[in-house]
Amino acid sequence: MVIAVAAGKGGTGKTLVAVNLALALHRAGLETALTDADVEEPNGHLFVKPAISEREDVTISIPRIDEELCDRCGECSSFCAYGALATTPARVLLFDELCHGCGGCTMICPLKAISEEERVIGTIERGRTPEGMGFTHGVLEIGEPKASPIIAAMKERLDPGVVNVVDCGPGTGCAAMTTVQGSDVCLMVTEPTPFGLHDLLMAVKMAEELGVPSLVVANKDIPGDTEVKRFCAEHGLEIALSIPFSMETARLTSSGINLVDTGEEWQRTFYSLYERITPMVGRGSV
Ligand code: SF4
Ligand code: SF4
Repeated sequence: MVIAVAAGKGGTGKTLVAVNLALALHRAGLETALTDADVEEPNGHLFVKPAISEREDVTISIPRIDEELCDRCGECSSFCAYGALATTPARVLLFDELCHGCGGCTMICPLKAISEEERVIGTIERGRTPEGMGFTHGVLEIGEPKASPIIAAMKERLDPGVVNVVDCGPGTGCAAMTTVQGSDVCLMVTEPTPFGLHDLLMAVKMAEELGVPSLVVANKDIPGDTEVKRFCAEHGLEIALSIPFSMETARLTSSGINLVDTGEEWQRTFYSLYERITPMVGRGSV
């Protein structure tokens, strides 16, 4: 099972939900793995303190042009949809950071002047927490703009036999879409502000497009009617968990203390979230 934890923007409590859910399931005796796919700013490890035992580079193939063979016909740069190649009368220029490693230019070069070489764009690190829960995160190289290949590589390595809780990067761009795609269910973490509502709307649309069923987690929730509650009611979205706004919760999380470490009640609360998730599994359209 793959449970993606997403949010339309950063700072809504996505990592808080992912970490506490994963720990609650592991402590309840379920084989669980936490994957931090927020590769631009992974911070799940700060809360579960894994011992990293494996590291693996993620690479993409980028073109190298043999100037002796190339006649500057320009077919490669015309083909490249990402603007990574530019043909000048003197040579073909490659802008590494724009190349997506699709291999198309290599295939279409009529003079076979293009070969490929591997470029490291990030690293996947794996290990276990002190209490034995599986942990994986990806780390994007500094200055590297392409998160999706690292996320795709992490998803290929998910163990289908365990409950995978996957913390997505914020937003609804390529990285978040790559993470949510193919998940069994997506938890949308939001907060009761106008910005929270707008970003929830975007995130819900993304999951709908991907055919992944969604449940909402209302973080920093306040009593009474809110726009988020009205929005969820109007769109048939279930608020599966409400985490009330509390200075104590904010203090604990900013000190790196997990809610499930503070008592049985949070352990039960996050396990109940899982019980609300399981009937959704298999309802997606992908
Ligand atoms: S397609 Fe091949 S021959 Fe033409 S400019 Fe590109 S590298 Fe050179
Ligand atoms: S490998 Fe693909 S993305 Fe990279 S330069 Fe060639 S055509 Fe462009």
